[in-house]
Parts: sequence; C-alpha cells; structure tokens
Amino acid sequence: MPQLGFGVWQVPDDEAERAVATALEAGYRSIDTAAIYGNEQGTGKAIAASGVPREDIFLTTKLWNSDQGYDSTLRAFDASLDKLGVEYVDLYLIHWPTPERDKYVDTYKAFEKLHADGRIRAIGVSNFEPDHLRRLIAETSVIPAVDQIELHPHLQQHAAREYHAEQGIATEAWSPLGQGKGLLEVPAIVAIAQKHGRTPAQVVLRWHLQLGNVVIPKSVTPSRIKENIEVFDFSLDTEDLAAISALNEDRRLGPDPSAFNLA
Ligand code: NAD
Repeated sequence: MPQLGFGVWQVPDDEAERAVATALEAGYRSIDTAAIYGNEQGTGKAIAASGVPREDIFLTTKLWNSDQGYDSTLRAFDASLDKLGVEYVDLYLIHWPTPERDKYVDTYKAFEKLHADGRIRAIGVSNFEPDHLRRLIAETSVIPAVDQIELHPHLQQHAAREYHAEQGIATEAWSPLGQGKGLLEVPAIVAIAQKHGRTPAQVVLRWHLQLGNVVIPKSVTPSRIKENIEVFDFSLDTEDLAAISALNEDRRLGPDPSAFNLA
C-alpha cells in the first residue's frame, strides 16, 4: 500500500473525477473513497480514463453503516464495484464500528468471504478503537490490514497506534492535515516550514510519514494536490518531530467512534 494517497471525502462526483485525474497525473497511486461519499462513479471514471494500469493503482472504498450485516455487505460490495467499474478493490474498510448495531463481526465475516474469493485484496476497518479491534480479532480469522482513524498533530492517537503496532495493523490517518482548519497556521509548524523552505501542509504530511502513518490528504486545487505529494525529498530532524509531537491535544474534529451510530 502506498504510504501516501489521495482522499475524496465531500467532493461531488463530477469534481471527484477531475480531482482524481489530477492526482493520478501528479503521481498518486492510491485513492481513498467510500460508498457514502457518493463519488465512486467519478473516481472510477477518472481511473479508467487515466491510462494508468489498474494493477498500479491502490483503490480503497468503504462499506456504509446502514449496509452492515453479512448479506447486506455482499450486496453493498457489488454495488460499489459496479459504480467504480472495476473487478476488485485493493482495500475494503468497515467505515465505522457503530457498536450499538452490534453487526461489525458479521460484516467482517462477509469481508473475509470476499477476500477469499479474490474480489478484495486486503480487508480492514476504519474508526475502530482498540476495544473494537480486540473483539474483531478474537471472533474472526483475518487480522485487519489497516485501521483508518482520525489522526493529526492535535489528535495523535497514541493508544491506537501502539495497539496497531502490536498487531501488525497499518495506521492510516484521516484528516491528516486537520482539515486545514487552523493546524496549518500553528506557529511551531509555520516555523518548521520556513526552516525547510516547505509549506506547513508538507511539514505535517512529512511528520506523519516519518512516524510510519499512511496518509490520504484531500484537495481539489491542482497546485495543492501536487504540493501534497512533494514530500519525499526532505526530512524533519528529531527537534522538528518533537516540536510537532508536543502539539497533541487529544482534540477530535470528527465524532467519537464509540458513540457514532449514524445510519
Ligand atoms: P485533510 O486533513 O486532508 O484536509 C483537507 C483540507 O485541507 C482541504 O479541503 C483544504 O481546505 C486543506 N488543504 C489541503 N491541502 C492543502 C495545502 N497543501 N495547503 C493548504 N491547505 C490545504 O481532511 P479530510 O479531507 O477530512 O481527510 C482526508 C481524507 O481522509 C478524506 O478525503 C477521506 O478520504 C478520508 N476521511 C475518512 C474518514 C473516515 O471516517 N474514514 C473521515 C474523514 C476523512
């Protein structure tokens, strides 16, 4: 799985088609969408039109909460493949655990079937807390390859990252730039950016990469799409990393996964 990919949350279908096309042209080879984003079609069209061989692209989509359950998962997966216009996805994620529904174990068993059938290369979860993962691992056979969680300098998720490392689960950071809301103006980050002649977004992405996180920044602005992938030709030093790590506030932008049960 590429350590850096492109996310398309809140991007309307036609705009997603343009943004994904720009991202593929800029060199991204991993795309993160979801059934609930309503842009699987645009994403798939951009992939098909790009001229990049399907096997060179790492494509992720996610199962929405209301489709949890064994049979409904199989149906929802078929619908996603149809919209994407592909034969398989590289990674399929349970979007949220929605613990009140108590269906994520059955859902994951359907994921295991689709995985065994070769229609999904890797299976994983999103927004799972260590307790949800512990139960899933105890009651199913395939350890999730990935847990995609909210993670940025203001929410560093130490407990989850530690549990992922113990289990060999890749930590994928959603909203890696803190949705661009304030994080990119934090003086410590601006100072590090000036020191390296980089932008604050590049510094934050570099921090994630050096920590070992997978990142999927989003932008629909071509110059930012390019900027966000130009992060493999410089390094932060230990002082920079420590200064960013000191910004943790355990502050979420999104909902608490243990309490989020939206259909
Ligand atoms: P993000 O942290 O990637 O921030 C995106 C915003 O930051 C942009 O809309 C823009 O305003 C700003 N930005 C981007 N590049 C910039 C740059 N170079 N300079 C200045 N500002 C810049 O936020 P996100 O979109 O919430 O998260 C990224 C991806 O994570 C999503 O697109 C989606 O694929 C995924 N995601 C998953 C979940 C989940 O529940 N699994 C939830 C949210 C997001």
